[in-house]
Formats: sequence, C-alpha cells, structure tokens
Amino acid sequence: MQMQLNAKTVQGAFKAQRPRSVRGNVAVRAVAAPPKLVTKRSEEIFKEAQELLPGGVNSPVRAFRSVGGGPIVFDKVKGAYCWDVDGNKYIDYVGSWGPAICGHGNDEVNAALKAQIDKGTSFGAPCELENVLAKMVIDRVPSVEMVRFVSSGTEACLSVLRLMRAYTGREKVLKFTGCYHGHADSFLVKAGSGVITLGLPDSPGVPKSTAAATLTATYNNLDSVRELFAANKGEIAGVILEPVVGNSGFIVPTKEFLQGLRDICTAEGAVLCFDEVMTGFRIAKGCAQEHFGITPDLTTMGKVIGGGMPVGAYGGKKEIMKMVAPAGPMYQAGTLSGNPMAMTAGIKTLEILGRPGAYEHLEKVTKRLIDGIMAAAKEHGHEITGGNISGMFGFFFCKGPVTCFEDALAADTAKFARFHRGMLEEGVYLAPSQFEAGFTSLAHSEADVDATIAAARRVFARI
Ligand code: PMP
Repeated sequence: MQMQLNAKTVQGAFKAQRPRSVRGNVAVRAVAAPPKLVTKRSEEIFKEAQELLPGGVNSPVRAFRSVGGGPIVFDKVKGAYCWDVDGNKYIDYVGSWGPAICGHGNDEVNAALKAQIDKGTSFGAPCELENVLAKMVIDRVPSVEMVRFVSSGTEACLSVLRLMRAYTGREKVLKFTGCYHGHADSFLVKAGSGVITLGLPDSPGVPKSTAAATLTATYNNLDSVRELFAANKGEIAGVILEPVVGNSGFIVPTKEFLQGLRDICTAEGAVLCFDEVMTGFRIAKGCAQEHFGITPDLTTMGKVIGGGMPVGAYGGKKEIMKMVAPAGPMYQAGTLSGNPMAMTAGIKTLEILGRPGAYEHLEKVTKRLIDGIMAAAKEHGHEITGGNISGMFGFFFCKGPVTCFEDALAADTAKFARFHRGMLEEGVYLAPSQFEAGFTSLAHSEADVDATIAAARRVFARI
C-alpha cells in the first residue's frame, strides 16, 4: 500500500465553507446541502480497531489521515460498487488499489477460485498453473522472458533490487522522488537536499547506510539522472521507476524521458527496471512498456496478476533471471509463492483482459470520467489538472502541468480533502489522498461515470 506522501494534517479542511455565489468570474448555481451520510457502524468498528491494530489498519493510507474524517469500513464489494457496514453503497474508484480490474467479485474469477479450493489452496510444490500464468506474462510483456512469482509488490521490488545488485556487482540504486516501490529499506527514501546528495531515510528503522545506497532523481528530468551517474561512476546497479507514476498522484512520463533512461542505462552498464506493480496489465495488455514502446531489462508486477489474491512477480531477460536460485546464486524464496489460488485468479483475470474490447472499454469510461470531472471543476472555478491512460487516472487541484512529485506539491490538499468527503456523501469512493491514482474496471459503465460526474458537479459547487 502507498506511503502517506502528504503527511501534513489537513485540519481545517472541514471548516464550514461559506457558499460563494461567484468564484472568480465564474457564476455558480445555488448550492444544495450535502446528503447525510450515516457511518455509525464504521466509526464503532474503527474505534475498536485502533486498540487492536496500529492506527486501526493494516496499511497506513486506509486510515484516511490525509483527508481527515473516519475511514469507511467495508462490508462487501461487487462489480463497480462497494458497500459499507452501515449499508451505504458507493461507486468504487479504488478497486482494492488496482487488482479489481475485471470488477469486484467477477463471476468467472470467483467460479475458478471456488473450483480450485476443492483441489487445495497451497501446495508448496510445483503446479502446472504456475506455467500457465508464466506463459501468459511472457507472451504479453515485451521485456519478460522468464518470471518468478512472489506474494506482494513489495516482495517483487525488494527481490529485483537484490537481482540488480547481484547481476552488476554494484550496490547503488537510483529511484525517483515520489515513486513508491514497496516498503523495503532501500526504497523508503525520497530525496536529500538536491539531487546529488545521498538519500536520507524516510522512516526510523532504515539504516543510514542502506539509505545512502539509494540515489534519488527527479521524474521527467534526465539531467538529474545524468548528474547522479556522473557523480557515482561505475557504482549504480540499476534504475527503478514507475513508468507512469501512481504513487504521488497520476503523473505521465514523456517518451523522451523513458527513452533517455533506456539509453543511459545501456551506456552505463546499469539495469533498467520498470516497476509495473500498478501499471502492469492495467494501462495496456503488454503493460506500460508496450504502451510507450520502451523495453526495460527487468519488470516488477503485482495487483492485476493476482486478480484480487496476494501476488507479485518479477521477470526479465533470461540472462539476468538465471541468476535467481536455484538456477543461479541469488537467493529468494517464498512459502506461498505461486500458490494455486493466486495463480488461478491471475490466469482468469488475464484471460478476461485478453478479450477484444477490454482495454478499449477501460480507456472509454476512464477518459469520459476524467474529462467530466475536470470540466465540472472548471465550471465552478476550481483549478485542476489531470488525465488518464486506460483504466488509471488522476487529477490535482492546481494549475499544472504536474510532471514530477515536486510539481504535485503545489496541489491544494485541503480542497482535495473536502472534495473527497463530499464525494463520499454523494456515494462515490475515491482514494483517500491527493497523491494516489484512481482506477476503473471492466464493470464500470458509462452510467456509473455519468452519475459520478453529476456528483462531482454538486460537490464542486459547495466546496
Ligand atoms: N510498486 C508500486 C508501483 C506500487 O504501486 C505498490 C503498491 N501500491 C508496490 C510496489 C508495493 O506493492 P504491495 O503493496 O503489493 O506490497
């Protein structure tokens, strides 16, 4: 799950907003009172959870700290919708943070899982389902000739880091500010003061020596990458990035940036890794690398390939992957890795995504959604910038353009908090942070999207 990039509290975000009849030069219609959202059971359950689980959750962003207000406690999900424990229904644009691309509880995925339960949920031994999913991944993802399944995106990223180091015999790794690659020590680093300084840990418990081996550059800025390579000649094992950023809001790379990284890595003997945990099989059948036509050496995956079950994977050129034990000396293992439930959900999910029209549907509904939200914001005089690629979207409350995390900091997070709560009241569940991407699914219809835009228009009128 995502880091809380906007650790700033948003106290004051809910201060009563005096309805304004005119915002700038833009006339707005009469402001309707928000619908009443009753969340009594959610509040009770979350109160108890705070005594049982750190912060009441098992992954920080779920606690709603960056938007304020209590979290919604889920009861069930189906298709494009989720229901909370108070019986409220929402159109869901989080989709379990990405895996629910076929819609929650897809009937075909569920049927496959039910059949698998009777054959066993965990083997800890080879099973043919691993080959089936591996072949699907290898067929679709340009960089992947061989793949290793693990159980989370974090595990995939920490394994690939070890592999980059093992393969090159170098220790330093270069990442980008605002990109999240799971919570391994080496990745809990964003930036020092200036791009050439060494990294400082973002979290207590991360050794300074580990953080120091992580260099941080600015997204969409090749000069910041070149400077780090020049200052650390022959020491950088690899470059890892989100090929479309989702973890500091939705930020798109330029093709030149990705091509430049490819060229620099090749020239410097460093490994290029696309972290496609979020983008993989979501923005295109062959992931972001197919969409942009740039092939990395290694790729990490997660979310969609588990179809809602816990899965991660890393893969790449055979020459590199053959370093992994037992084919080679780099150790990495997992009790539940490649377990038959996760493989089954992943196979069925990729099969559904392989059908004609799947990505066209995602692009159509998501573009309609983001265009509609941005038009509604502008109608009411709010600055907004945003976009989508296939079923991944995002927007920032600032003028833009946003090309890197540093630009994203200009966004009005207090306004986002008010918008988020307003949308909940209207029955729309958005990611509880300005710095998260949103997701649609094959189950989201144009009617869902139009209802969401209408809700957004009402909320923009009153925040
Ligand atoms: N990489 C990226 C790009 C991610 O978005 C995430 C999770 N959001 C991770 C890695 C970590 O995955 P997980 O939460 O499954 O450990």
